[in-house]
Amino acid sequence: MPTDLPDPETSVHDLIWLADTPTVDGTTPCPACRQENATRVAQVKFERPHARWVPLNRCHACQSVFYEGEDLVDAYDDHVMHDGYWRHYAEIGAGIHGMLGFVQAIQAPPGARLLDIGCGMGFVVDYWSRMRGDPAVGLEKASYGRAGAQHLGADIRPHYLHEAADLAGKTFDVVYSSEVIEHVPDPAAFLAAIMPGLADQGVLMLTTPCADALTPDLDPTVAVSMLFPGGHYFLLSAHALEALLRQAGFQHVVVHQQAEQLLAVASHRALPDLSFDPIAHEDYRAYMMTLADCDDRSFASGGLYRALKEDVNRGDFERGMDVWKRLCDVAKTGYGLDLNDPPITEILSVTDPHQALKRYPAWLGCAQYYGGMLMSGPYDDMRVRLRRLEAAGRLLRHEIKMNPKYDREAYSLLNTCDFHFLQAASYTILREETFLTGACLREGEAMPDKMWRERWQQVRQKLSEILTEQAPGATPAPPARPQDAPIES
Ligand SMILES: [Zn+2]
Repeated sequence: MPTDLPDPETSVHDLIWLADTPTVDGTTPCPACRQENATRVAQVKFERPHARWVPLNRCHACQSVFYEGEDLVDAYDDHVMHDGYWRHYAEIGAGIHGMLGFVQAIQAPPGARLLDIGCGMGFVVDYWSRMRGDPAVGLEKASYGRAGAQHLGADIRPHYLHEAADLAGKTFDVVYSSEVIEHVPDPAAFLAAIMPGLADQGVLMLTTPCADALTPDLDPTVAVSMLFPGGHYFLLSAHALEALLRQAGFQHVVVHQQAEQLLAVASHRALPDLSFDPIAHEDYRAYMMTLADCDDRSFASGGLYRALKEDVNRGDFERGMDVWKRLCDVAKTGYGLDLNDPPITEILSVTDPHQALKRYPAWLGCAQYYGGMLMSGPYDDMRVRLRRLEAAGRLLRHEIKMNPKYDREAYSLLNTCDFHFLQAASYTILREETFLTGACLREGEAMPDKMWRERWQQVRQKLSEILTEQAPGATPAPPARPQDAPIES
């Protein structure tokens, strides 16, 4: 190992790309193609059992990436289930939109039987049985499978594939396994174990992070979540995944790269025309609204939050407002929170992510953002919009800081939220103080002369008044952002 690596205990980086990339011969064989020639491309920080750097190799033959050494993966449950992490997954973490979009790609005929291996909370199983009315079984060893079985009522069994004795001899028309193959040490053995459960005319569907997308240009937060130190054994290239599927015996294979993910479809029969389009809006929304009727606060609010996001993004503000009101009800009854006046100072004071997950919904910052964006069209109210966007910016920053590896959605919204906050602030102030210009609000703006400095002070004062103007009896809001901007005064 190079001696110039920083101390892993204190390093702020989780991934260091290597500038010079020596060829490593005869070390750990590539898990995908078994070749032994690889290039060392990066060092990745592992936290457990102690902080240390682990070399990452890229296979010369197939371009897959994998860690140097053996037995680097902990039990999956250790990572995802501590202290109610499943709530985060139900509330915001699960990429249900993408899962359902992919499962629709093959246009399975009515009556098709589905097996989901490593089904997580079982949203695909639940969708298949609830919305299509077709038989579906999920296998999930990690305990969020139990949460899905309990609250969705889906047929989820707590087994690995090789343990599922009750499925022996049964076959399925669709075998679906999303983000699972990278968690097993031997991908060829995993595919071989699936084969007996697939009907002769059946279709296998896999997703996995794409090694081809892992480059030094990639956002480091995205890169580290793809690498999932201690959780993933390897990332497959498109080439390697196709080769593995053909070696497993499939004559018809399609591997499609979508952003940082590979979507693969394989069968013994010719495949239909595949559509990798997103799931139809109304189908997705209808399913989200069935989740909204769930008895558990995390499932119900997770369905409502996702429907709100969909409605706002499509400009369907009237349906969005109905959803927002229902989300407010669940926030009140399930979490004791008033979404129209959230106790920001109290929320920001909880800095332990496990405590925060128990106490507050994981969608809180994101829902404030969409609640702010909802104040358009028929509900045009710039002051409410401004207050919600301001709250959203503070909450999103807090969530990202607490849980940088999980809060991808908060991370993806932050810049957009800041933009809309500044835009709303400019509009609000321009409407009410016509001589002040919104240009003053840009963060980092230097104020060269006295007149501009005075205007800036007036803008800040006005903004502060608007943000502290709240419902009677409410606690005043803290000072307005951007409080950290390097404004000369
Ligand atoms: Zn390889």
